[in-house]
Amino acid sequence: MDKALTGMAPAEIAGACSFREAFRGRQVYHWLARGATDFDAMSDIAKAERERLKARIPRIYSSTVAQELEDEDGSLKLQIRLKDGAAVECVLLEDIEGRKTACLSSQVGCPMGCAFCKTGSLGFLRNLGSDEIIEQFHFLGARKGEISNVVFMGMGEPLLNLEEVRKAIAILLDPEAIGLSRRKITISTSGIVPGIRDLAAKGPQVRLAVSLTSAIPGTRSDLMPVNKSYGLEELKAALIEYQEATGERITLEAALMGGANSGADSARALVEWARGLHVQVNVIPWNKVPGLPFSEPSRDELEAYLRILEDSGIEASRRMRRGRGVMGACGQLGDTLKAQEPGA
Ligand code: SF4
Repeated sequence: MDKALTGMAPAEIAGACSFREAFRGRQVYHWLARGATDFDAMSDIAKAERERLKARIPRIYSSTVAQELEDEDGSLKLQIRLKDGAAVECVLLEDIEGRKTACLSSQVGCPMGCAFCKTGSLGFLRNLGSDEIIEQFHFLGARKGEISNVVFMGMGEPLLNLEEVRKAIAILLDPEAIGLSRRKITISTSGIVPGIRDLAAKGPQVRLAVSLTSAIPGTRSDLMPVNKSYGLEELKAALIEYQEATGERITLEAALMGGANSGADSARALVEWARGLHVQVNVIPWNKVPGLPFSEPSRDELEAYLRILEDSGIEASRRMRRGRGVMGACGQLGDTLKAQEPGA
């Protein structure tokens, strides 16, 4: 069995467990969604049957928690050890109203190479399976209680692993499993145009965030090499398609690095580029990552940038800086890990 039960649909669970009756698959599925980690917890399954299952599938989860780091602000970062020895990180962020957001990884490392991102500097090893994605959610929930939101903003580019991300989201959305609403789930992409189009055509219609960083083509290409494959015009056309398919507002993320993309020219370029799109902009003061050649923006730069957006009628907010004490903030994931090499 390649995949653990945690990432399976009920019919797949029934097959993996060799159940004669299909409803048994659904029974196990319910227990897993409630966070059960062993068959003994599944009290509506007869003891003899549980023994058979334990002998057949000695471990329900495919991954384990290798390290836990808690910030003073309550953010929790976990390092997860995967079945092949590779590792990823995931984070739980709690806002002042007590809403808990799980920030999940979709790949081991990331192939996109964004210049300002710790994960991008690690390289790429492989995609995560839906089981490895859902287990991050359960590990965080077991430590911090009920999770209200999920964002695919951890390590990796989710639209390059869309099939496994879709399977995980199906479990997150299913009212008979975790039961989140589609508005509580956000996929964040660096701008993979075919993935955005695929999502627009086939769903799930969750919220979409795009890490724009800059709407000046040369600056964006320097900071995000994806811009050389999918330029800003192509990206905008795909976002219009997504918006037409879902009717949802799109979030643009602008991580601001002092002097690199934080000036008034960058803010004005974003305003121009966003015309015709229904967007909200999250301005993210860049979080320091040792070894990367950028600095945090000054308060004046940040305020001037926000003012230009607001004066042009764009709804803009400044992302709260949470999780910085454990290097769990945006762009910082991966500091507990080594560069990703096959077999590492
Ligand atoms: S910002 Fe996102 S897409 Fe870019 S390298 Fe980091 S994890 Fe990958």
